[in-house]
Amino acid sequence: MRVGCPKEVKNHEYRVGLTPESAHELIARGHEVWMESAAGEGIGASDGDYMAAGCTIHTAAEIFAACDMIVKVKEPQPAERAMLRPGQILYTYLHLAPDPEQTADLVKSGVIAIAYETVTGPGHTLPLLKPMSQVAGRMAIQAGATALEKAHGGRGVLLGGVPGVMPGKVTVIGGGVVGFNAAQMAVGLGADVTILDRDPEVLERLGIHFESRAKTRFSNKANLAASVCEADLVIGAVLVPGAAAPKLVTRDMLSCMQRGAVLVDVAIDQGGCFETSHPTTHQDPTFVVDGIVHYCVANMPGAVARTSTYALNNVTLPHALRIADLGWKEALRRDPHLAAGLNVHEGHVTYPAVAEELGYTL
Ligand code: NAD
Repeated sequence: MRVGCPKEVKNHEYRVGLTPESAHELIARGHEVWMESAAGEGIGASDGDYMAAGCTIHTAAEIFAACDMIVKVKEPQPAERAMLRPGQILYTYLHLAPDPEQTADLVKSGVIAIAYETVTGPGHTLPLLKPMSQVAGRMAIQAGATALEKAHGGRGVLLGGVPGVMPGKVTVIGGGVVGFNAAQMAVGLGADVTILDRDPEVLERLGIHFESRAKTRFSNKANLAASVCEADLVIGAVLVPGAAAPKLVTRDMLSCMQRGAVLVDVAIDQGGCFETSHPTTHQDPTFVVDGIVHYCVANMPGAVARTSTYALNNVTLPHALRIADLGWKEALRRDPHLAAGLNVHEGHVTYPAVAEELGYTL
């Protein structure tokens, strides 16, 4: 199969669909890989690196015109959608439910669109989303620690403390993938960490993993208010599948916090779990409400494009190889988890939640 990987064109997107190593895996199995010139620039991979892996270098127009499968990171932008062809496989993040224009364009184009975010794994997991949550969770502590510095508006607290001075207090709301990874980083720095969740099984897993290195607390209004009030840094990491994030920290609750404390709302991509949050960018990541510093960047993994690209490729490549080896029909027939990724197929929306949201018949 001829696989194509264009350079991402969405604003400030530095990741790339295929690393040179992933391209090499495809080529080693007899496939062709066409890369757009400078596609890997954002992760420090040159055209020469891709050519050394066996790729050929082309323009985006050539790739969309001639490749059987397009591998990307972000949803295709309008100019890219105009180049898609009937029967072409599009393998990327799509997030169609809130995006009627993109959905209509994909339906019209006749592509076979497989969305990373709906590919499933054993036990109702979403393995192609997980690495980005791992990255965001780990970054949340880095971002929060920086925001706690005086020069960034914070209260001047070093999370790990030093001998003779107490460490900073970190409260993590939601103990899933983001929360677990945030807690791991905070514990590693030597901070005083409390994780809240409302799922007893999650609390039990966290308790077994962290033992005495982090406290766990059931997430109800009283416990949440107490843990937020005493924290130097609060990480918002809740997810209610299929719904907007619940506003767990209200504006009223900010008044009991120390001035210069920091909120990092990782759940901002689902609307945020702090009442006072609004989305920010890497260029201008923080703002202050009632003396509390807020960090609400909606695409945190984009800042560490190299790590994020490699983490993403680790989970997307095995499916890409099977699609290339077997063809999309056979690959989906053999693997129901990959089949769950099919969102649009030759003029029809095939993913129930997207069809329902946007009024298409399956
Ligand atoms: P997850 O499903 O693994 O974990 C969410 C956790 O929240 C679950 O353990 C759940 O029990 C818990 N929860 C739900 N309601 C709660 C409540 N009222 N109190 C306490 N805990 C509660 O999800 P995840 O992968 O960790 O993602 C968390 C959020 O981070 C999502 O909104 C996701 O979209 C977002 N995210 C953002 C970025 C970014 O760049 N900003 C990147 C990746 C993920």
